Amino acid sequence: MNSLHVKSYSVFLIFLAFVFSMAVRLIWVYQFSDYDAFIYAGQFMINTNDGYYWAEGARDLLSGTFQKNDLSPITSAPAWLTYIFAKILPTSFETLIFYMPSLLGSLIVVPMILIGQNLKLIEVGFLASLLASIAVSYYNRTMIGYYDTDMLNIVFPAFLMWSLILGMRTKEEKYLLITGLEIIAYRWWYPQSYSLEVSFFVLILLYTIIYERKNLFNYQLLSIMLLAMMGLDGLLRLVIVCCSYIVFRQEKWQRFTFFILAGALALFFVTGGFTPIWYQLKGFVFKDAIEVSKDVLPLHFFSVMQTVREAGQIPFTTFAERISGHTITFVLSVVGYGFMAFNYRVMLLGLPLLGLGFLALFGGLRFTIYAVPVCAFGIAYLLFTCSVYVQKLFIHQKLAQVVKSSFVIVSSLAILYPNLLHVMDYRVPTVFNKTEVESLVMLQSIASREDYVVAWWDYGYPIRYYSDVKTLIDGGKHGGDVNFPVSYALTSPQDKAAKLARFEVEYTEMAFAKAEQNETVMNNTAQMTLDVGLKDANDFLEVLSSDIRLPQKTRDIYFYLPYRMMGIFPTVAQFSNLDIMSGKTTRQPFFFQSNRFQDTPTELNLGSGVVLNKTKGTLKIGQQEVPLKRFVKTGYRADKKMMVEENAMHANGQMSVIYMQAYNSFLVLDEAMFDSSYIQLFVLEKYDEKWFEPIILEPHAKVFKLKI
Ligand code: MN
Repeated sequence: MNSLHVKSYSVFLIFLAFVFSMAVRLIWVYQFSDYDAFIYAGQFMINTNDGYYWAEGARDLLSGTFQKNDLSPITSAPAWLTYIFAKILPTSFETLIFYMPSLLGSLIVVPMILIGQNLKLIEVGFLASLLASIAVSYYNRTMIGYYDTDMLNIVFPAFLMWSLILGMRTKEEKYLLITGLEIIAYRWWYPQSYSLEVSFFVLILLYTIIYERKNLFNYQLLSIMLLAMMGLDGLLRLVIVCCSYIVFRQEKWQRFTFFILAGALALFFVTGGFTPIWYQLKGFVFKDAIEVSKDVLPLHFFSVMQTVREAGQIPFTTFAERISGHTITFVLSVVGYGFMAFNYRVMLLGLPLLGLGFLALFGGLRFTIYAVPVCAFGIAYLLFTCSVYVQKLFIHQKLAQVVKSSFVIVSSLAILYPNLLHVMDYRVPTVFNKTEVESLVMLQSIASREDYVVAWWDYGYPIRYYSDVKTLIDGGKHGGDVNFPVSYALTSPQDKAAKLARFEVEYTEMAFAKAEQNETVMNNTAQMTLDVGLKDANDFLEVLSSDIRLPQKTRDIYFYLPYRMMGIFPTVAQFSNLDIMSGKTTRQPFFFQSNRFQDTPTELNLGSGVVLNKTKGTLKIGQQEVPLKRFVKTGYRADKKMMVEENAMHANGQMSVIYMQAYNSFLVLDEAMFDSSYIQLFVLEKYDEKWFEPIILEPHAKVFKLKI
């Protein structure tokens, strides 16, 4: 084939692989095509919580809304890219963010096939790209509706690998510029990308020192990489990279290469290019460093890490399946990569991605995705190498050809098959259902943009996107210190909940203002305690139930209480179950929900060892038997109004059982949980008119407005 043929053949294969990747991603759409609950405004909704963050930023860019301290990411790359697409493309915004991840994620096939083409292994590149595009972890994080930075997080380093491989093999100057631009774009897209960039740099440096010490091009490449990575503004780096490319193109300036390299190295360090790496190293070495608080009133909060179980060891099979779809495929792919790197030394440039992928064994599942393209190359290379041996087994040429082709096709399908099975089984729901979104959109027409919605952090981003309001906590802001007041409010009686919400909202805004003036900002709860003239935060929380003077009201506050939170209510409560002065756990609230139960004339077995004795009115919890205080039944009348039937049982009882007919679900809870604002407002709709006013009362979510 001549070079034109090779090029058009590559373009054809890229097209084919891209269509394959998209087609597989459309399986989700096909599976849910008649599932109305996932559709809003005529389009499927996205299925990742964080996506609503970028969507909020893009929405604000499109409408030109620039609001102080609303945490909307209007300067972030994903918001800008979405904004630009929304301006160019004739689709609705909902359609855009739903399809964007699958379209951008499928671009992974481009650099992979181009690498194959350059190594004269185009079939290897093609098969590898098919596998990589749908391999378990890559699919999970670039599937349709998974609108997050992941959609380009592997595409960028794969392109970087391509331009470095081609640069090292061809020594063509254009790859200097392309590499520089890729690093700048990758950093713009994902600021945490520096560790991969630096690994690539170190590899090129080692390669140059070991094999190509005399090659000027390599030093130019290293200089451009340093200039693209240094700690300056992206636009400035763009200009500097372009300028140095122009210099490198001039024959007469070649002799300055080493001066430029020295200059680039100096600039890299002076501008703090090394700082993020230093921080990361420090993080590894001094893992358990305790931040010494300089606060006047140091408080102790619950750490989110205590509830996140993702970090930690994962089984090897899970690790392997997420990278290659099957453990055997994975093991063979590592072997294949070894062979490939042995025969094609430039493939060593896959090591940073492979290495980062292996971090998953220690640092959590989210890293597996990086190893996907490199392992895909490995298995594809092994397969085609084997096929050559298979062919040699037969003397008859035509037969040999047929056997070889069948071998390739059958084993390719075998490699893809487990991944396709995963795609068909992986029926991820959208973040919210249509009815939930409708309530939030209704809230948008009621609340003003400066109002706050108090809700658990899981709902922060979608609330901000659909209701265009402010929130206290969200998917990015959910440390123990900021979760504490929200947790406390949701698990406390209504008076305390209302007053603490007013305090927290006003203090949050005051803290923004202080930070802007470069004043030191103390933790809100600590500041409130001191401002009311107390020294103990527990005393402050205590006086909330008395007639305490509230801060000046600057805006309205709403409580968003979804049914969705019922399942995680014990986790929500954990964040305020501790004495924030000492950090010791104080309450052990009892809260138990049962959707599976057995009802007999004498007993109601709620599972997990919780049994209600109907005749005695007692509750058996494990080995203990306690008297029941009340049995409550909630449901809806024909006019859709809520009805609550309460049966008092033992006056000295400590536990209550609530049967929620609408959800066919039982709750077992202690007095503290029964009195909590979430249970009183959401489950029983017993709002105290002194503090709350109902705004939306739907079975899936209720919204109350604060009256203070
Ligand atoms: Mn806003």
